[in-house]
Amino acid sequence: MHEMSLVEAIRTIVEDQARAQGFARVTLLRLEIGRFATVERQALDFAWDVVMRGSPADGATLEVIELPGRAMCLDCGAAIEIDNRLDLCPLCSGDRLLPQRGDEMRIRNMEVI
Ligand SMILES: [Zn+2]
Repeated sequence: MHEMSLVEAIRTIVEDQARAQGFARVTLLRLEIGRFATVERQALDFAWDVVMRGSPADGATLEVIELPGRAMCLDCGAAIEIDNRLDLCPLCSGDRLLPQRGDEMRIRNMEVI
């Protein structure tokens, strides 16, 4: 279940930041997740509750921002946004799309007190 290891990695970052910046608690954390990252929201919320217990982000709201998938069309050369890895190019209907982004995950920002 990689949601657990994802949240554990976030916890480590939160604890490091809390020490470095001297805040006590995180109230809200915004996480950007690419459209093609295989993260299940329900599993993520569960992992969040379990893993953040006792950390500065205990009880913090987790806000997920979904980033669009991006690809380059090998037929017409356009850079496009796609919802699905199997989509066709919206410009030329080509099916040779090279995914370029959409599986990334990163913390956009945190609200702290
Ligand atoms: Zn195309």
